[in-house]
Order: sequence, then C-alpha cells, then structure tokens
Amino acid sequence: MPTNSLLDPAPFTLSLHGLRVLLVGGDMAAADFLLHQGALLHVVNPVPDAGTLALAAENRLRLDRRTFDPADFDGVRLCVAAPGPVHAAAAARGVMVGALPAAQLRTGRAVLVGAGPGDAGLLTVRAVEAIRDADVVMYDKLIGPEVLALIRPGARRIDVGKRCGRHAMAQSAINALIVRHAQAGRHVVRLKGGDPFVFGRGGEELENLRAAGVPTEVVPGITAALAAAARLGIPLTHRGASRSLHLITAHGSDDRLPEHDWTALARAGGTLAVYMGVRTLPLLAARLLAAGMAPDTPAIAVENATLAQERRMPGTLAGIADAVAAAGLDGPTLVLIGAVVAMADVAAAVVEDDLAA
Ligand code: SAH
Repeated sequence: MPTNSLLDPAPFTLSLHGLRVLLVGGDMAAADFLLHQGALLHVVNPVPDAGTLALAAENRLRLDRRTFDPADFDGVRLCVAAPGPVHAAAAARGVMVGALPAAQLRTGRAVLVGAGPGDAGLLTVRAVEAIRDADVVMYDKLIGPEVLALIRPGARRIDVGKRCGRHAMAQSAINALIVRHAQAGRHVVRLKGGDPFVFGRGGEELENLRAAGVPTEVVPGITAALAAAARLGIPLTHRGASRSLHLITAHGSDDRLPEHDWTALARAGGTLAVYMGVRTLPLLAARLLAAGMAPDTPAIAVENATLAQERRMPGTLAGIADAVAAAGLDGPTLVLIGAVVAMADVAAAVVEDDLAA
C-alpha cells in the first residue's frame, strides 16, 4: 500500500532517533507520536492545544507560539505539517515532509465539572485535570478564587455569573456559547458550584450538548448538603434517626416556593436539605409545621459552607426563619432540618476556623 504520510499505518516503523523534526501546527497526538519515534521536536504553532503546552512545560519539546518561518528549517531533516505552503517550502529546501492527516483537526468537547462548595480541597482529582486542560472555562458566581486559580494562564475565562434571581447571562445563551466553543475545536469546561446535576441546570446543558453532537463528560462535585453536613459533623442518615435524605429547592422558576408534597416530606421523617432557601424560609417552615412536623425539630442554616466567611445559624423548625433573618444571611445558604441536626458540633467547627486563621 503506497503511503506518503508518516502518520498512516505503515508496514514498517521509522526511527527518528536523535533527528531534528519540525512540526508546524498539529496537536498533542502528532507531537506525542513524533516524540515516541525518538525525534528531537520543535513545534511552531500560534495556537497550541493544552496537551502540546503541557509537553513544552515538561521540556519534552521546544515550542514557539507563532506562525512558521522558513528559517525554522535550519538543521531540520524532517518537517511535519498540513499540506500547503509549508510542504512546498520544505521541498525547495530538500527537507523531507510528513503530512498531517485532515483528522488532525482537533475535535472539541465539553466537560460539566462540579466544583464543590468552594474550598479547592474538595475538588475531585478529575475536576482539577479537566480545569487544567481546558481552553475555555465558563463559570458561575459561586466558584471560589482558589478554584479559578487552577485555570491555566492562556485559557479563556468566561464569567457567566448567575446568582439565583439575577441572571448575568441567560441559560439559552450559556448553552449556545458552550456549543460554539466546542464546535470550534476547543476543550470547554463548564464549571458549576457543588454538583452539576443537583439544582445546577447541568441536565439542560447536557441535553443541549447531546443535541448538538458535542462529546460531553460529567464530573461530579460535592454538593452543598454534603459539604455543610461534613463541616458540622451532621450525619445525613443515621441509624434510628434518619433513613432518608431529601434535597429540595425552595426557589421555583417563578421565584416562589415550589409546591412540594409537604405532608409526604414531614411523614418521611428523614433529613431535609433545603437549597436556595433564605428568601422563602418563613413560608417553607410554616408549610412543614402545618404538615405535622414538630416545631422543635432541629434545624440549622449554613452560609458559604467551607469558605473562610462561613456562618452558621442553629435553631429549630419553628425559629430558624427568624434567626436567619436576624443574622442577615444573604450569601449561598443551605438549611438542614431533621433529628440528625441535633448532632451538629457548631462550636468545634468554629474553633477549627480560629486555629486556621
Ligand atoms: N449545584 C449546587 C447547587 C446550586 S443552587 C450544589 O450542588 O451545591 C445554589 C444553592 O446551593 C444556594 O442557594 C445554596 O442553597 C446552595 N449552596 C451552594 N454552595 C453553597 C455553600 N458553599 N454553602 C451553603 N450553601 C451553598
């Protein structure tokens, strides 16, 4: 089978050991292939992908972020580039040429990444990898500075700053933007507070990406209920005290308290984790009391859980709304309600903060 490309399957292998090779454009796969053949690699590419940048950072190749210059051929025996003017220039200089296949055009993809509650220590390893590898990162208001610091310097950051009630960018515009960047061949990370699939509209973004045919991965994150419970030493389920955990939102699409089945929630006797609950907390507590939940059921509100400015407001179902209003909690706040909340170690957690400060 005649072949004119080093990257095509070949009936023999070619050793490039110690040979100076110039790669014009291409991506990490091309660079990696040449390095594996033993090439001393020089890459000239004004827009290298994250993988090529990583190889350069490890000194495995020399990278110039600019367009090709004929002087790049000096001392070079083999040049690999997309067919076109570089091939012609190489032929004129007597330099061997390898052609990058058309498939070397990078395909974009999207990763919906759960960034956890704010503390970067609570990111998954996979989340850190995805953030570091991204060409474009689109993030919400709830993402902390420590997490954003992981984005590589050359990557594009887009603050789509959504905070319940105030939408900096409409969801439809966010959906369209992720698809547009991915279809341009970029690796897009959609960074979302907590877990993308817990009140994060990750489902809508995933549906949209699927419809557009963009390969998408989902990286789970620590959702606020888990983070707040861990901080306070509250087991969300506990033998004899709580057999279920209900994650509920207190913020409907019309800005009002959604009509949950309050009687069923009260009767289940499990732990309730209320998201987006500050504004509608008085009504939510009233609904649960009316449904038969005991007024002295322990409850606690945690604002900015895991961040330096974390605040907690312990109380009971009957008193928690007034306590939260009096304290003026207005940051992201999670409310836990149920017998297990009695196990909260509020003071110990505060002492820990003082020690860390
Ligand atoms: N996907 C997120 C939830 C987004 S909805 C998650 O899985 O955690 C936004 C709500 O999440 C906030 O109103 C608040 O109720 C909760 N929340 C998010 N981060 C929080 C934090 N650090 N502390 C307390 N509550 C938080």
